[in-house]
Amino acid sequence: MATKNVDVLLVGAGAMSSTLGVLLKHLDPSLTISMVERLEDVAQESTSGWNNAGTGHAAYCELNYTPQNPDGSINASKAYGINEAFEQTLQFWAHLVDEKALPEPRYFINPTPHVSFVWGDSNVAFLRKRFEAISQHHMFVDMEYSEDPAVLSEWIPLVMEGRDPAQKVAGTRVKYGSDVNFAALSRSMVGYLQSYDNFELLLNQSVTGLKKTSDGRWLVSTKNNKGGNTVFNAGFVFLGAGGAALTLLQKSHIAESQGYGGFPVSGQWLVCKRQDVVKHHLAKVYGKASIGAPPMSVPHLDTRVIDGENALLFGPFAGFTTKFLKRGSFLDLFASVRLNNLWPMLKVGLSSMELIRYLITEVLQTRHSRMGALREYFPNANEDDWELAVAGQRVQIIKKDPKLGGKLEFGTEVVAAADGSVAALLGASPGASVTVPAMLQVLGKCFPKQMASEGWKAKLKAMIPSYGESLADNPELLKQVRQYTLSTLGLNKIS
Ligand SMILES: Cc1cc2nc3c(=O)[nH]c(=O)nc-3n(C[C@H](O)[C@H](O)[C@H](O)COP(=O)(O)OP(=O)(O)OC[C@H]3O[C@@H](n4cnc5c(N)ncnc54)[C@H](O)[C@@H]3O)c2cc1C
Repeated sequence: MATKNVDVLLVGAGAMSSTLGVLLKHLDPSLTISMVERLEDVAQESTSGWNNAGTGHAAYCELNYTPQNPDGSINASKAYGINEAFEQTLQFWAHLVDEKALPEPRYFINPTPHVSFVWGDSNVAFLRKRFEAISQHHMFVDMEYSEDPAVLSEWIPLVMEGRDPAQKVAGTRVKYGSDVNFAALSRSMVGYLQSYDNFELLLNQSVTGLKKTSDGRWLVSTKNNKGGNTVFNAGFVFLGAGGAALTLLQKSHIAESQGYGGFPVSGQWLVCKRQDVVKHHLAKVYGKASIGAPPMSVPHLDTRVIDGENALLFGPFAGFTTKFLKRGSFLDLFASVRLNNLWPMLKVGLSSMELIRYLITEVLQTRHSRMGALREYFPNANEDDWELAVAGQRVQIIKKDPKLGGKLEFGTEVVAAADGSVAALLGASPGASVTVPAMLQVLGKCFPKQMASEGWKAKLKAMIPSYGESLADNPELLKQVRQYTLSTLGLNKIS
């Protein structure tokens, strides 16, 4: 069996591994890096353009990032955090465009206004309050608000046409929102990595096991789907395997993996590719989630631009399967049950009745009821124009909780060994929009000495000008970096 020595092994060829690879190559070009992917190409799972919604999550339109406090006030702290995280990611992409490591931005990111839209007295009151709270902050200063049907018809004609004129409605808009083709981005990043002699991409190759050696390195076994096995001897391993990251983390047997479990949520979209319909909508329109719905299941009507194809996408309709990957195995969930995560998983199962009820209702939806949900956002939608498509798989994090026994989390989390020799990214929300801060966390945990060095700090500052500073606390810095990213990435084109 062949053995390969590498400094870094990246498992999975999605948004996370490709971003980490590019960051590492900029920080230390001498590193030998291999990327191992079980499928036949890069970005075929959650990162695939049609498997996610492509929203550049900046908290401009997603109402779940600004929950209401019991006293009715708005808690905006999450919105500021998400906005800052996305601004960091945008800076990195803009830097890569500037140095021609990425192609022209329109191949992977397109300006798409981000709109929140609600109807009914209480929802309108909530949106007004949200707007009043966050538009005071320099991060959201360009947000517009309207309850005027004429203005909303201009912003989102398909959403307003055919709507009951007596219905009370309201919307907010940020013009420089974005639609991102994360697959195109990852493909370009991997293409850039392949320009280095000391980088190698291996497709059709699944990681099957990990074993720590006495000198602190990892022996990682892989199986080629077309026959033949390879063992990697790696100094650092990143488990960027999407939903399967949990499975591989468990195989590493590191103490830090104890107690983690996964809760898979699948999804479906309604997709419209009729260009005479598509051309009348240019926005991501996010509404309010139903009761019991997980935060990432907020309904939205989106403009998509994927590999030169324009489409509208509505959903997601959530569902439940036991697979951890769209092209995974039905045994994934059962195989992930261990003595150390059984209790947290049971506790979450017992305490998530609302979520389970919601998922069952979603699974039982018919085409007719799905069209009903779409018509709440697009009253004149014609059933013949829409097809149902299967979205990617999300595996939510289940972890131990001292009070509750176990809790379900909807964010992303970096889990790393204390010695920094292996790390995994669990969870999927806000997902690909926060690849840069997520991978900076991996670097902080696994390369602490280098990250503290002046050399790496200077390189990070060159790639991410706001690195080490707070955009939420520094209006002038935000203005500067935003001007740079919006113009470099062509996001300020909508007047
Ligand atoms: C329905 C849905 C909507 C979403 N919408 C958005 C959105 O609007 N905005 C946003 O920012 N994010 C969104 N996300 C989240 C985003 O898609 C993910 O966070 C992101 O793509 C995850 O990237 P990744 O590299 O971690 O995982 P993936 O893209 O899933 O890549 C993991 C890779 O690892 C490979 N792999 C798995 N196991 C092995 C193994 N044993 N050996 C080798 N390779 C392996 C897989 O084949 C895959 O290619 C959405 C996700 C879903 C499912």
